[in-house]
This record gives sequence, structure tokens and C-alpha cells, in this order.
Amino acid sequence: MKLDRILPFAKKLLKNVVKPGDRVVDATLGNGYDTLFLAELVGENGKVYGFDVQEEAIRATSARLKQHQLTDRVILFHQGHEQLSAVLPSEEKGKITGAVFNLGYLPGSDKTIVTRPETTKEAIEQLLEWMAPEGTIILVIYHGHVDGAIERDSLLQYCQQLDQKKAHVLQYQFINQQNNPPFIIAVEKR
Ligand code: SAH
Repeated sequence: MKLDRILPFAKKLLKNVVKPGDRVVDATLGNGYDTLFLAELVGENGKVYGFDVQEEAIRATSARLKQHQLTDRVILFHQGHEQLSAVLPSEEKGKITGAVFNLGYLPGSDKTIVTRPETTKEAIEQLLEWMAPEGTIILVIYHGHVDGAIERDSLLQYCQQLDQKKAHVLQYQFINQQNNPPFIIAVEKR
């Protein structure tokens, strides 16, 4: 298959926008794979700010970063991404070039701990304030779980109404696949 699958496409978008020295956000650490990817992209002079509400995600991500000796360029917050404005250093305002959300629950963990539409939207709203022009938010929307469809619909509605003078909004999705595969919404600040 020549078309990019969802996760490779998400990485391609991040790679397009994140350069050495950049400041970026991993809004849902999970197992830390994206955190590691972002830490590599920003290089030794960049910074990754990571959020998760689960201790387990913080632990898994820290271990992964340690393994690759990349802990210095990553700051982990054991807090919801909706706290972003409250905890990010103020000098980063207007400098964030990339952010990624993997929605839903952490595979192999408690399925009742899921991202929620209200807090996800709150975080996007804050990010749009903190990003540089052309800064891009990648949402990987998993919607097969309980309440997943509610979050999906709520986010689609929210993203569709974003003012086109303020953001470019893209949806990337295979539309003939079974079993609710994830899809992408990308929001580029103008
Ligand atoms: N569904 C994806 C993985 C999603 S992991 C997959 O299958 O690959 C989602 C992560 O978001 C979990 O680790 C969860 O703890 C975290 N999370 C839930 N609510 C959050 C919030 N408000 N802020 C930050 N992280 C949150």
C-alpha cells in the first residue's frame, strides 16, 4: 500500500513541522513512543513538554527516555493537558511548533481512564494561544471505545468551526475500513 497509514502519516506531519531547537508538546504520553520521537526531532537544544494523568504513563515514558539518554530535553507533567497554560514556562508562549494527542485509553491499562472531549478541547484552545504561526497540532482520534464516538463527534464539530483565517484544519482518514480505525485531524495555526 502506497498511502501512508495513520501513524506513519502523523509522524510525517510532525517531522514536517518540528525542527532542531523547537519547543513541542506531547499532550498524552501513554507509553512514550511519541515523546521519544519528538525528543529526537527537537535535538539537544529543544524541549518537549509532556502530559499525562496516569502515573503509569509517566513511568513508562521516563524509562523509555532514560534508555535513549534523552531525559534532559523533556519535561514531564503528571497533570492533565488542560493545565498547559498554568504550567508551561511563560517564555515559551508563542514558540510551540508542534503538539500531538493520542486519544482514548492506554492499551493494556485501565480502559476507564480516557481522554475527554471537554478537556481535550480546552487543551487545543490553550495550545492555539501558545503556538507559533504554522505550529501544528496532530490529533490521533481513537473512537472504538465506550464514549469514543462522543469525543470524536465533539472534536470534529469543534475543529470544523475553527475560523479559517486562524487555522488550517485537515482530516486524514481511511473511509472504507471496518472496526473504527483511528484517524487524524491536524490543526495548523495561521
Ligand atoms: N488509544 C491510543 C493510546 C492513547 S493513550 C493507542 O491505542 O495507541 C491516552 C493517554 O492519555 C493515557 O495514557 C491517559 O492516561 C492519558 N490522558 C487521559 N486524560 C488526559 C488528560 N486530561 N491529560 C493528559 N493525558 C490524559
